[in-house]
Amino acid sequence: MTIGVSIDGVLVPAGEARVPVFDRGFLYGDSVYEVIRTYGLAPFATTPHLDRLAASAERTALRIPWSDARMEEEIGRVVQASRGGDEDDPEGAPWNRGERSIRVVVTRGSGEMGLDPGLASDPMVVLLALPLRGPPLSAYRKGVPTWPVGGPGGPRRGGDPSAKTGEHLFHVLAVREARAHDAHEALLVDGSGYVTEGASSNVFAVRGGVLETPPLGAGILAGVTRALVVGIARDLGIPVQERPLPLSALEGADEAFLTSTVREVLPVVRVGDRAIGRGEPGPVTGRLHAAFRERAGGHESGKAPPRG
Ligand code: PMP
Repeated sequence: MTIGVSIDGVLVPAGEARVPVFDRGFLYGDSVYEVIRTYGLAPFATTPHLDRLAASAERTALRIPWSDARMEEEIGRVVQASRGGDEDDPEGAPWNRGERSIRVVVTRGSGEMGLDPGLASDPMVVLLALPLRGPPLSAYRKGVPTWPVGGPGGPRRGGDPSAKTGEHLFHVLAVREARAHDAHEALLVDGSGYVTEGASSNVFAVRGGVLETPPLGAGILAGVTRALVVGIARDLGIPVQERPLPLSALEGADEAFLTSTVREVLPVVRVGDRAIGRGEPGPVTGRLHAAFRERAGGHESGKAPPRG
């Protein structure tokens, strides 16, 4: 099977899954969502993800029609429906083998055409369980290039960055620009020259043994992985400073990495045309990812990603 689809609690074969053309998620990006992943096919960190979904819904005045208990039950069903049929991915990281990423989408539903949110009253819930396509193992060993997008006079994103919504065009175009420069991720730079986050990740720098990451107030999504990594760093005795991160500070950092549900902790070795540190994954990044691997588990749990 490998892809599970559930629409309003009904499991549907992926090839037959359809949503109405009048759905406001489709027409206006009028939706909120989460991406949860599995380890050993068990959903990981479901509670902080569902808490963030509730916060995104609150900020957008959208109603989540299900309780968290119902949502967890339906997530379990869609993962179950997706079991089997995995193609072997020899390039993939071993801890992603056979795993699923689960997209939870809640739209404001369908109604008469018009921007007024009062025109729709029945939210729609779509759950997708897809084979998890994380970065290849080589990306963890060698690190990835990133590309800064935006900056003073650059395009500005709309909406509320702390809400995870279906309004994505800014991020889509940022990733397009990054790909045009063969970069793995776009780094979003605000009008004052501060790096806020990646298009779908949070950003960390290591400078002089201190872990730095932009604060939640910098206009970022409160990443679930970001919070886990900040906690792990504190447990390991690595000082953490949440403070605004000028692009120049990131470029001059000893190490840098990205965090996200699908990436875990991914070393960054270039920002634009500049190499970070010696242009290879750094030791603090390695320690943090190894500690993260131990906590998250999954296939080959506890093993640090091989490097070099
Ligand atoms: N920032 C943005 C804009 C994102 O889309 C994501 C991915 N959800 C993240 C950060 C990382 O968040 P998380 O660790 O919860 O996946």
